[in-house]
Amino acid sequence: MIASATCRAFVVDLASSGAHSRIPRSTFFIGIGTPIRPVEHTRTWFGFNESAFAVSRAIVSASRIPCAPVAAFGPVIDRLAANNIDLTKMPVEVAPIAHYHMGGIAVDQRMATRVPGLFAAGEAAGGANGANRLSGNAIPEALVFGEQAGHAAARYAAGRCLPDWPSRAGAAATDQIRSLTEGRKGDIAVVELLEGMREVMWRDVGPFRTAAGLARAIARFEEMRQVLPQVAVPAGQQFNAALADWFELRGSLVAAEAVAHAAAARTESRGAHQRDDFPDADPSWARSQRFAMTSDGGLMMDTLR
Ligand SMILES: Cc1cc2nc3c(=O)[nH]c(=O)nc-3n(C[C@H](O)[C@H](O)[C@H](O)COP(=O)(O)OP(=O)(O)OC[C@H]3O[C@@H](n4cnc5c(N)ncnc54)[C@H](O)[C@@H]3O)c2cc1C
Repeated sequence: MIASATCRAFVVDLASSGAHSRIPRSTFFIGIGTPIRPVEHTRTWFGFNESAFAVSRAIVSASRIPCAPVAAFGPVIDRLAANNIDLTKMPVEVAPIAHYHMGGIAVDQRMATRVPGLFAAGEAAGGANGANRLSGNAIPEALVFGEQAGHAAARYAAGRCLPDWPSRAGAAATDQIRSLTEGRKGDIAVVELLEGMREVMWRDVGPFRTAAGLARAIARFEEMRQVLPQVAVPAGQQFNAALADWFELRGSLVAAEAVAHAAAARTESRGAHQRDDFPDADPSWARSQRFAMTSDGGLMMDTLR
């Protein structure tokens, strides 16, 4: 089952019967806390073999690892032990998970966005990690830059009076919320579109990308954006989960489209962005991509050195 492993990385093979026939490069990797040393798939240090996504089961086992896995799993080992699971003796079913969004609101050194008085930090802000995040630094990043953002916001607010807002400021947004809380009939449930969007992101905008997959994703997101106004929302102001989902869907679609367009434009492989059709890094792409929303809701990309 285990093809190779270091003390701090587990290499997972596919355990389900018949799975191997569908997987040309049969090993994919999962790791906790540290980069994984690739064995068969040498292009990137982390990675799930794309075709492995089609497989429903994978098993991790530490039974052949020469050193104790405690260092890599930390408190997880205690949790497993409390449930009578000993990784060195028995296999555990695992699954890949998207757990960090690399990219986000553009901020300067003070964590200020280009909206005056709005500061961002943590996973919502982009730019701190370059092409790939070092494992384990997301929470320190959120804490360090969160403090920075807090101080900068306090300095910004000090000595400023609240501006005189025009009486109709924000009216368009509040009118939209009010109208949605009155309910809207439609054939499509929000959750259906949200699930569909996640599926497309997973399949076509995952770690291994191609021009064809990205074009398919962009076309699908465009369709979803078109039907957004016809999505059903039940009436109700309080605990209206579908209403919250509607806003999540609207925002997520913008983010998904930005990611897919950026990935399609970047005709190279770098860090966490791996193009099967452009497997090498291209020095001319050693720059960031930034999107701005146009007044009609479209996206405009530029690049920064
Ligand atoms: C399974 C998993 C394992 C991870 N393991 C590690 C690890 O080992 N080490 C590490 O460093 N990082 C790890 N990460 C990443 C790390 O947890 C996150 O990057 C980090 O928690 C982000 O912090 P944040 O404060 O920026 O965002 P979040 O923790 O996501 O906080 C955002 C908050 O905003 C709230 N919110 C969202 N929308 C609204 C709204 N409209 N109005 C009001 N509130 C809203 C949310 O409810 C949430 O409480 C892991 C992530 C996952 C998913």
